[in-house]
Amino acid sequence: SETVERHEFGAEVGRLLDLVVHALYSDREIFLRELVANAADAMDRRRFEALTQAVPALPEGASIRILPDKAARTLTISDQGIGMTKEELARNLGTIARSGTRAFTQSLADAKPGERPSLIGQFGVGFYSAFMVAERVEVTSRRAGAEEAWAWASAGQGDFTLAPASREEPGTTITLHIKADAEEFLEPIRLQTIIRKWADHITVPITIAQDGKDEPANEGTALWRKPKAEITEEQYAEFYRHVAHAFDQPWATLHWRAEGTTEFAALLFIPGMKPFMPVEGDRESRVRLHVRRMFITDQAGLLPPWLRFVQGVVDTEDLPLNVSREMLQSTPALARIRKAVTGRVLSELKSKAKDAEGYAGFWENFGPVLKEGAWEDAEYRKELAPLLRFRSSAVEGWTSLPDYVSRMKEGQEAIYILVGDDAEALAKSSQLEGFRARGVEVLLLSDQVDAFWPERLDRFEEKPIRSITQGSIDLSKIAGADASGEAADVAKLLPLLKAALEGEVSEVRATDRLVDSAVVLAAPEGGPDLQMQRLLRRAGR
Ligand code: ADP
Ligand code: MG
Repeated sequence: SETVERHEFGAEVGRLLDLVVHALYSDREIFLRELVANAADAMDRRRFEALTQAVPALPEGASIRILPDKAARTLTISDQGIGMTKEELARNLGTIARSGTRAFTQSLADAKPGERPSLIGQFGVGFYSAFMVAERVEVTSRRAGAEEAWAWASAGQGDFTLAPASREEPGTTITLHIKADAEEFLEPIRLQTIIRKWADHITVPITIAQDGKDEPANEGTALWRKPKAEITEEQYAEFYRHVAHAFDQPWATLHWRAEGTTEFAALLFIPGMKPFMPVEGDRESRVRLHVRRMFITDQAGLLPPWLRFVQGVVDTEDLPLNVSREMLQSTPALARIRKAVTGRVLSELKSKAKDAEGYAGFWENFGPVLKEGAWEDAEYRKELAPLLRFRSSAVEGWTSLPDYVSRMKEGQEAIYILVGDDAEALAKSSQLEGFRARGVEVLLLSDQVDAFWPERLDRFEEKPIRSITQGSIDLSKIAGADASGEAADVAKLLPLLKAALEGEVSEVRATDRLVDSAVVLAAPEGGPDLQMQRLLRRAGR
């Protein structure tokens, strides 16, 4: 009819569709997880918006309904969620919002087969997975608060259509015209198994229509509310994969109940692998906040940004169900929860750090993120210091500040560090010569953030932390420091060199830091060290 509008997919979508359909063929059952997750998200959003905006509340007992129809060869998934306007249909189901196809393609290529299904969730392209099993997809949606409904339809090949439609209640209905080779997804038993496997933790009730009846498909219990003794390792791991869009085993599982001034249950995980972080620059913790089991938001900043790799759920009784976003910023109850949760994660790290090998794995994944805390968070800086790990000029593998201090030479006054881009290059730096010759250990720091935090931490166990490229360092007091042999008399040379390098350097000094090399560049006392100067130059200053 004339009211049907035809739209081209965004340029990237076409390629992406092709990719999803082909690369994930053997895991195609996950399309159901993605569509059910979207439906659950939409219902959570409606519940939340109903509290703060003029949006009709989610009806009592609202559910996600899955309806297979063998005769028509369709599978329908309908929800009572927030719904979409015409514009939202076009934008959400016609473009790629969160990440580029290139990043997705690259990650798919890098991923092992078992890792691929979770990438879809991480990259925010879950809806398109419907085309793995459907030759045509129709979406009818009515935004909560709006009168009109719209129908989106596509065969997943280049374009989609939009047309006016009707829908009694707000929400979304997705109809999949199942491909001939995907008829297994019309079997209620098969659907039931998929929901059990992938979506059992969704707290919205899910039903599958069978013989004219809606059968409950998910247990929907809030795992974090169950006693630890009743939860198996595998249930924890499955829940972790669900909240984190992950496929690995968690490295640490923290499950506890806080009682007293603050009451909450928390189930948190530290991943065993570094995720494929597609969202650059997003530093906020995504730990989910629930109030009396109801999901409220994943943007409550429940943990500081330097613990953003921690995944999971915090569920409290101390907030009202109708907590608004503004309230989340200012309520003292939430501040107390944040403090308690942060403290608990730190003490877990402290205890896990006793196992050096296990901790090294964690450190290689998330160490650079944790170091951001030593830079930006005065409240936790001191507590973080012993948790940091370093490469060193003196020992293999990773070492810590307490271990360094225990190895310090008699008469050594400072903890010495050398900061640069690459640990291997640092280990060969001529800056180290004098220190090596005297048996003085230097920590080698090669993460971006290393240019910043040492200055803030300033000292550890009363020992100042000093960059060896900065100012003059007197090594003569150190016990057994007799490496320089006869000190060359360079006093006459210095003014000549200074004159020759006029405008290039501010000072030329004799040093006992070198053994084989004749000269080395140093940064002035009190100013930024050499690595910091490099970064500032790169930033165009
Ligand atoms: P993601 O869920 O990671 O954002 P998807 O590809 O799964 O990515 O979905 C894209 C967007 O489409 C969602 O962010 C949401 O805005 C919208 N959407 C999908 N399904 C629904 C639904 N059932 N109800 C409302 N909005 C939906
Ligand atoms: Mg989704």
